[in-house]
Formats: sequence, C-alpha cells, structure tokens
Amino acid sequence: MPIQLFVPTFRVDECLSEIRECLEKGWTGLGFKTVALEEAWCKYTGLPHAHFLSSATVGLHLAIRILKSEYGWQDGDEVISTPLTFVSTNHAIAYENLHVTFADVDEYLCLDPKDVERKITAKTRAIVYVGLGGNTGRWSEIVEIARKHNLKLILDAAHMAGTRLNGEIPGKEADAVVYSFQAVKNLPTADSGMICFRDAAHDERARKLCWLGINKDTYARTSGKGAYKWKYDVEEVGYKYHGNSIMAGIGLVQLKYLDQDNSYRRQLAAWYDTAFKGHEDRVLPVPVAPGCESSRHLYVIEVAARDELLMALNDCEIYPGVHYRDNTEYRMYGYDAATCPNARRLSESILSLPMHLRLGHADVKQVTEVVLKYVKPIN
Ligand SMILES: *Cc1c(COP(=O)(O)O)cnc(C)c1O
Repeated sequence: MPIQLFVPTFRVDECLSEIRECLEKGWTGLGFKTVALEEAWCKYTGLPHAHFLSSATVGLHLAIRILKSEYGWQDGDEVISTPLTFVSTNHAIAYENLHVTFADVDEYLCLDPKDVERKITAKTRAIVYVGLGGNTGRWSEIVEIARKHNLKLILDAAHMAGTRLNGEIPGKEADAVVYSFQAVKNLPTADSGMICFRDAAHDERARKLCWLGINKDTYARTSGKGAYKWKYDVEEVGYKYHGNSIMAGIGLVQLKYLDQDNSYRRQLAAWYDTAFKGHEDRVLPVPVAPGCESSRHLYVIEVAARDELLMALNDCEIYPGVHYRDNTEYRMYGYDAATCPNARRLSESILSLPMHLRLGHADVKQVTEVVLKYVKPIN
C-alpha cells in the first residue's frame, strides 16, 4: 500500500447527517450551519469574533484589505512576511498593492523576530506570521515587536487549528487570525476557512465585504413584513467570499474531534522522533517551540541531498512533500535569491513526512526505515 503525505479523515455518517439536515431544511447557503460553526469556533478558541469563509486565501485578503483601508495604508507600503509559506499568504498582500518584505525564518521554520526587526522601515505597516505546520515558533516575541513598532499583526493560522501555546489558543494579540479548513489541512472540510478579527467593527465590515458589500442590516430593519427584502443598501464594492452551510456542517463534525485528532498526530510525531533519535548526523527533525502543543499538521525533517531521498522514497511508494519552496524564488516577487539565506537553505533541505490519521505505528516504522536506509550524512 502506498503511503501518502495527507489523507483526510471524515466521520462519514455524522457529516452526512449534518448535510442531510441542510438539504431537508432547504438551506445550504450562508446562515444556519455557518452561524452554528462561528459560535462553536469562538467558544473553542476563546477568540471574540469568527466569520466563516470559502477559504483562508480570501480570509487573508479580507484581513489585509480591511486593515489597509481602516488605517489608511498607501499603495507601496510594506508588510513583512515569510518566504517559507504557501503563496496565499503573500498573494493577499500583493492583491492590495502593498509590498511584500520578506524576513528570514528561524529553526522553527517561522519568522525570525531578529530579522523581522531588521526589516522594519518607516513604510512598514504590518507583519503576517505563519505558524508553520502548527508550530508557534517565537510568536510571543513577534507580538512584542508589533506592539513596540505599532504594527498591525495578522496570524496565518492555516496549519494551527487546535494548536495551543502555554495551554491557550494563540492569536488573541493579533488584529486578525485566519484558519484554513481546506481539503488536506488538519481540520479538513472540502474548502473553507475562518477569519477572526479582534475588533468588532472589523468583523462587522468583513461580514459585508464577503457578501458583495451588501448591508444586511438595512433589510433586517425593513423586512418586518418581508416586503422589502430586496431593498438593502450596498456600501462598497465587496466580494463573494462567504462560506456555506454544507461546508460548515462538515466543519462542526470535524471540530468535535479536533483535539482527539491532533493528539493522535502528536503520537505519530513522537513515533517519528523516537525512530530518528541517535541519527542526528543524518536526520534533523524540526523542533517544536517551548510551550507549544502543536496541531502537527506537518512533521518536517531537515536532510542532505533532499531530492535524492525524495526519489528513493517515491520508489518505495512513500510520497512525502515539501513545505515550502522559498517564495523569493517566484518570478512574480522579483526578489534577490540571497534575501533570506535560512529560508533558501531550508527550502532545499526540508521534507514533510506522511502525517494523517490513517497511519499507524507500522507505517511510521516503514517510512523511518526507508529514510534511514537512503539518507546521506549532513556534512
Ligand atoms: C493552505 C494555506 C493557505 C490557504 O488556505 P485555503 O483555505 O486553501 O485558501 C494559506 N496559508 C497557508 C500557510 C496554507 O498552508
């Protein structure tokens, strides 16, 4: 049996019963289950607001868009971000004609606070932080830097559903936290996401912007007898970004099992750690930051001759991944390759090993045996 990187698990009967409820009621769109999931998410995370969206990509865009206009940022102003991420993170900045300033990553594969501070200029407005693989990295130091320099802070928590830092869900210090419930994330639906603003006014604006700019309050006020539902106001040009009840129904089931599932992911990670112990000359697992209970969306190792190892694993029907290619290499950013040396080096040497709920101890054993058989010494 081939061993895949990610295979999502769904409690099929429970998901179908949520979906059946939507179909029988005749309500598959915005509202109903989306509201139930937003309430459940606030309760679970302790974050004050949550709005359910069609993806994390649109959530990141909304965060940048709303903060830019609320705080009067100009085109060309700078947002500091990581080069080791999925392109969504940095596209969100580019959508709003802002400049992506890449800072380097640390041993946790997250933004290095020291380099972030070096990259701050008079034009810097915000920091976008990615908790890579569910790791918190040096999040608390980033929060301090944002405070000290009066910068807005966005947490791209696409890998962080259920991650805790010192026993708490991190992100309460951020202006916005964005989660992904995409098909292969650690809380998979099919495609959806959540945006959690700290400020109630930003949350309210997000709710309008993600439905074409329509102000539902106007018709809520005038639709007492149902006659004027069409007579809403449109305050600004918005987008079609909101989530739907089918996705939210699946999300409600997934949320119920999130802590249990993440705990099994940590068990898989512990099995990997044990197998690689004593082989630090060849395999360096990326450490989890102190105080972090990671969602373990990823299990990443650093190795020499990564691409050769990847091929050897593929020959044995084991299919790992790479998270991520150094974004400074993408032509669209027009960046010098030497901008972030750690990210550059890591992007050539990291490998994400299979991590999902269908794996057992025997699978981890098989993967680690093949890795240790073929991996070259780190010089
Ligand atoms: C997957 C991912 C996103 C985008 O999530 P979608 O829900 O697919 O839009 C953003 N940032 C990171 C770090 C991701 O891994």
